[in-house]
Amino acid sequence: MADEKKVENVIVVGGGPAGYTAALYTARANLEPLVFEGFQWGGQLQNTTDVENYPGYPEGIMGPEMMGQFRAQAERFGTRFVTDDVDRVELSDGGIQRVFLGDEEHLAKTVILAMGAEPRRLGIPGEMELSGRGVSTCGVCDGAFFKGRKVIVIGGGDSAMEDSIFVAKYAGELTMVNRRDEFRASKIMFERAREQDNIDFKTPYVPEEFVAGEDGKLDRVRLRNAETGEQEEIETDGAFVAIGHIPKSEIVTGQVDADEDGYIVTQPGSTRTNLGGVFAIGDVVDHTYRQAVTAAGTGCMGALDAEWYLRDTPPSPEAHWMPGGEPAEIAPNPG
Ligand code: NAP
Repeated sequence: MADEKKVENVIVVGGGPAGYTAALYTARANLEPLVFEGFQWGGQLQNTTDVENYPGYPEGIMGPEMMGQFRAQAERFGTRFVTDDVDRVELSDGGIQRVFLGDEEHLAKTVILAMGAEPRRLGIPGEMELSGRGVSTCGVCDGAFFKGRKVIVIGGGDSAMEDSIFVAKYAGELTMVNRRDEFRASKIMFERAREQDNIDFKTPYVPEEFVAGEDGKLDRVRLRNAETGEQEEIETDGAFVAIGHIPKSEIVTGQVDADEDGYIVTQPGSTRTNLGGVFAIGDVVDHTYRQAVTAAGTGCMGALDAEWYLRDTPPSPEAHWMPGGEPAEIAPNPG
């Protein structure tokens, strides 16, 4: 008997606000989406505490709780979830899209890419080695481990301000290290950080190395003055790296158009990529707004774009053939 393989209408890759919203909309459109939500489902909001700027929650809501609600709402309409990371994809222009978990292959007529973004690293000695032993990229996750201790936060954007304000609730002394005298952060976030008695600012300094003590944990950071070139070491128990994010687009590199920073390029005003049947949403596309609400908005757009594509596109001839040339029994296109 020929090996029958189901061809999904929609596979969503990613389980943050964008992916779950795309799942909700495609599920309500009876497209029975299959979502690869990642091992650490929920995206970056899993590492956040209070979300105060998502409309509809006047009292605010905790990030992980909100993601649980997004997920439950998509599930209510029949979304299926795979709580694992996609290893690789084989994208086609208007044909069958292939998504792999190890050797396990999943086929779809459309794929919605929603892999999000992850913290940017400094790329200096000691950063990875001391990760979890004093060096962290998530103040909200790890701040409470540094009660009464001396810590630094590296960066000058809103993420660095947010991390500093949060970590300063626990830390004894907190020094924000920024490579310029000016801060990229919004005025309101900068002012909030400045109002904290235990936050100091050290500029313009570039971190060059995280150095371990005899116990193998972070002990000090070597800094270079960006203007004079002079070096100095400061003692610290914890260092939070908060210097922005990079898109998690590795699995599609070279297959779909992306910009020089790796953000997937979509056609203006839509979520369509350069490949027919492949759509991209959320932070893997957006290097400007990067908010939960904007990600969710593009999730809705991606779902509608996929729905319209399925409605308007005749079934690909490839859809009638299994890999290797064996005929597959595939349900006729509902459109
Ligand atoms: P960002 O705005 O890109 O800021 C990154 C910061 O890290 C900048 O100060 C940058 O310095 C510095 N930096 C980058 N690479 C560095 C390196 N190799 N060594 C040292 N410093 C380095 O990123 P973000 O703070 O993550 O914010 C991203 C977006 O999310 C922004 O639009 C922000 O407003 C938003 N956001 C909002 C909130 C909030 O409203 N609650 C919270 C977090 C983020 P330079 O300035 O010199 O480039």
